[in-house]
Formats: sequence, structure tokens, C-alpha cells
Amino acid sequence: MYESAKAIVTRVAHNLGVDEGGVKTLLENDAEHKFEIAVEDKVYSAYRMQHSNKRGPYKGGIRFATHVDEDEVKALALLMSMKCAAVDIPLGGGKGGVVFDPRGVEPEHVEAVARGYVRALHEHIGPDKDVPAPDMNTDGTIMDWMVDEFEQLTGDMSKASFTGKSMDNGGSEGRTAATGRGGVITLREYLKHIGKDPAGLTVAVQGIGNVGFYFAKLAQAELGVRVVAVSNSKKTLAVKDFSHNSNQLNFSHLEFSRDVIEQLADSHTEELDRDAVWQCEADVIVLAALEDVIHESNWQHVNSKIIVELANGPISDGAHQKLSTNVAILPDIIANAGGVIVSYLEWKQNKSNEHWPEAQVNAELDRILSAATRAMLERATKDQSPMKEAAFAIAIERLRS
Ligand code: NAD
Repeated sequence: MYESAKAIVTRVAHNLGVDEGGVKTLLENDAEHKFEIAVEDKVYSAYRMQHSNKRGPYKGGIRFATHVDEDEVKALALLMSMKCAAVDIPLGGGKGGVVFDPRGVEPEHVEAVARGYVRALHEHIGPDKDVPAPDMNTDGTIMDWMVDEFEQLTGDMSKASFTGKSMDNGGSEGRTAATGRGGVITLREYLKHIGKDPAGLTVAVQGIGNVGFYFAKLAQAELGVRVVAVSNSKKTLAVKDFSHNSNQLNFSHLEFSRDVIEQLADSHTEELDRDAVWQCEADVIVLAALEDVIHESNWQHVNSKIIVELANGPISDGAHQKLSTNVAILPDIIANAGGVIVSYLEWKQNKSNEHWPEAQVNAELDRILSAATRAMLERATKDQSPMKEAAFAIAIERLRS
């Protein structure tokens, strides 16, 4: 993912006439924090990469996972700078990670890791320096522990040092569904731009987790699309022969849960292998699972004309260059920016000691993201370029101005 992120930034920067020195500056991190957290008899490697604060405090999640490494965190920090600039919010880019899987671990041990992270880093983070958030395997409870540790160490009581906190600890309404909702806004604006009615379009969603679920539910309710296939890490669930009947998976009565795929199964559906979801002939494919799903050895299996990237980097740069000649790819740095936009709104509410109703948060998210999507579409038309290159061009120009 780091190679793909660096490749697209370099290519787009060169197209904009940026020289080698300028490209080096764009790719470099402002600061790289690497440290260890000792808890009981265990020692965990930890990172915080601060890529750019040119447009505002560093912003980006902290993930707890055993596959975390330096390059992964660097790639995600670079993409955060690009994302915040592309959607024009006054934040920079950063990312953090701990090589630690908290699943099945005693809560006291997880809390000690979270507090240890803040103790090691507290001088380098804060409401006007660097504002972390949850990411893979971290959540509101972990953010609450981190904020508490930060308050004890620094005396800052604004709660604006972290976002993604629980609701009674300064969290924002609308955060849970924000990334999926953002994907719906981006798709809606794209379809409007090409003059296509979304009603009845068939949609397949890879990864029916938090992001994929809210995308599917809201796209069905608000755009009238027909969700015909979804998947998780084990299988695809699809409507049988969906191009010849009008059946769909019905989300209207469902709340998010980890076994939602089982609740969608009925006599009209069938189970297929895990990758069938992005290889099927739905009008729109939504990639909401993980990075590097489509790469240079499998891109020929795509059968759709529209792809929405909700995971970070789900299509490698090489595959993107091949596919984007005849597939419209709505790029991650715009399509999945709903989460960081609502994080920005949470930070803004904390700084002014306000708590907005959900309708206000959603309206503000819609305003910011639909404007960013339209700007990307106009730029892509003007430059005759894929949408991803247009989004990066806008971001790079803002980061260099
Ligand atoms: P999640 O863990 O809730 O859901 C991920 C889903 O993907 C699960 O259903 C899992 O079973 C499925 N999955 C895992 N491996 C798979 C595979 N090989 N094939 C098919 N499905 C697979 O995570 P999430 O919060 O929904 O995030 C999804 C992606 O979006 C991640 O890449 C994340 O980094 C990215 N993202 C999330 C947010 C956010 O706000 N949560 C914001 C921006 C980007």
C-alpha cells in the first residue's frame, strides 16, 4: 500500500510540474515516533507517523493489530494528509499503530496498552498538535481511556485531543455511520454528474462490516439502489440470478451486527465464494473490506463499470491504471472521507464546547463531501484524467500552496 500511495503521489506531482525536491517533500514525514509499550511481561512496538501539519493538526487513527508495521502506518499517514486536503478540512495527516491484537485480551491489559501509548506520546499530541482517532480494533472505549490519560498528564480538559470518543465523553452524533454515509454522498454526486438515475442500479458490497453495512442500508433507503450481494471474510451472499429478477437483500429492518450476513439469507439467496462479490456483474461494486484486493494479477475479473473505494487502497496503483481506462473508480480519499469529516466536526464541537444534533452533523457532512466530490469531478473532466488523479491533484496543490 505504501508503494501504491507513493507511486500515485509521485505521478500526479510530476504531471503538475513538481520537481524531484518537491516530490521528496510531499512524501516525507514531518516526524516519526517509534517506541515500545511494556505491559506486564509483554513489550509491544508502537508508532505514530506525523506526515504533514501544513493545513492543521495531524489527524489519523491508531490501530491495534499484529500486522501493523512502519510502512503500513507511513502509507496511511500520507493518505490522511491527501484526504484532508482533498475534502478541504483544516487538518493534516498522521497515523498510529501498536503491534498488538486486543481481541480476547483482558480489558485491563488493553487499557494499560492504550494508556502506555499516550504516556509515551503526550508531548507530541493534543488539540492543536495531533488529534488521533479509532481505527482497526480500537473504539470509543479505548479513546476514552486515552483522553483520560492525556487529561491527567497535561491538564487539558477540552476533550479535543482525540475523536471517536463515546457519546457522553464528547463524541459526536453521526460518527458510527459517517464513512458509509459519505460513500453514498459520493456515489450520488457521481451519478448526478453522469446523468444516471440511481433507482434500481444493482450494487455488490465487499465487507459488510461497519462501513459496508451503513453504506448498503443508506444507499438502499436514500438512493433506491438494489443491493444484490454482500460478503465477509468467509463468503459472499448473493441474490440468485439477480440480473433476471428484482429481488434484493433487504436492510430496512436491520441494525448493524457482526452476523448481519446470516440475517440477510433467505430462499432467494445463495452462498458463493468470498471473492465472487467483486467479480459479479452488479452495476456498482463497493470495496469496504481491506487494502490491495484488486491488483495487477486479478484486475481482469472486474465486471462492473463503477467501483466505490471505501477501504483504504483496495485497488493497487498498477491495477488502477489498467482499470480506470473504462471503469469509473470513485477514489478512497474522497469516497471514504466521511469518517474523518465527522471527526473534524467532533473536534470542532469539543473546541467550542457544543454538542450538535445528528441532523446538523449529517447536513454538514453532506455539504463538505458533496462539494469535494463535485470539485473532483470537474477537475477530472477538465484534465481528462481518472477521478483518483484529479482528487490527488487537488490535494497536492493545496498542500503546496
Ligand atoms: P470492519 O472490521 O467493521 O469490517 C470489515 C469487513 O470486511 C468485515 O465484514 C470482514 O468480515 C470483511 N472482510 C475482511 N477480510 C475480507 C476479505 N478478504 N474479503 C471480504 N471481506 C472481508 O471494518 P470497517 O470499519 O468497516 O472498515 C472497513 C475498511 O474501511 C477498512 O479497510 C478500514 O481501514 C476502512 N475505513 C474505515 C473507516 C471507518 O470509519 N471505519 C474510515 C475510512 C476507511
